[in-house]
Amino acid sequence: MAFEKTAQKDWYKILGAEPSDSLTELKRKYQKLVLLYHPDKQSADVAAGAVQERVRRFIEIDQAWKILGNEETKKEYDLQQREDNLTKEWPLHAQVYLKDMSWDEDEQCYTLPCRCGGSYTISESETKEVALVCCDTCSLVIEILQ
Ligand SMILES: [Zn+2]
Repeated sequence: MAFEKTAQKDWYKILGAEPSDSLTELKRKYQKLVLLYHPDKQSADVAAGAVQERVRRFIEIDQAWKILGNEETKKEYDLQQREDNLTKEWPLHAQVYLKDMSWDEDEQCYTLPCRCGGSYTISESETKEVALVCCDTCSLVIEILQ
């Protein structure tokens, strides 16, 4: 059976919050949204489709709070997010030290493999002038640090 990673939702976004928000701040935002979307708080003249959407939002908000309102699950989630971001961003706009690139003696240039299978290439003289290098295959860019 293939292992499928379930797409993680952005629980902070769902609460309209930032990862830097304190627990008190998160709770305040959660409570505000819950009041807004609570099924018991809906007026009778809301269309059926809108009611469904609100219930869906309410469940989402509740899930978000279950994770972010608990110190342990929040810590776990934050850690997971950080790891996801690292893999997602590498090497898009990554900063790479020139010394971490491989020197190609034949071509007289520095190279770094891109995750797409292509590579970043910069010649010795170019390193004096440019700091951004495009992948030769895809549109990813890295910044070279000296
Ligand atoms: Zn690439």
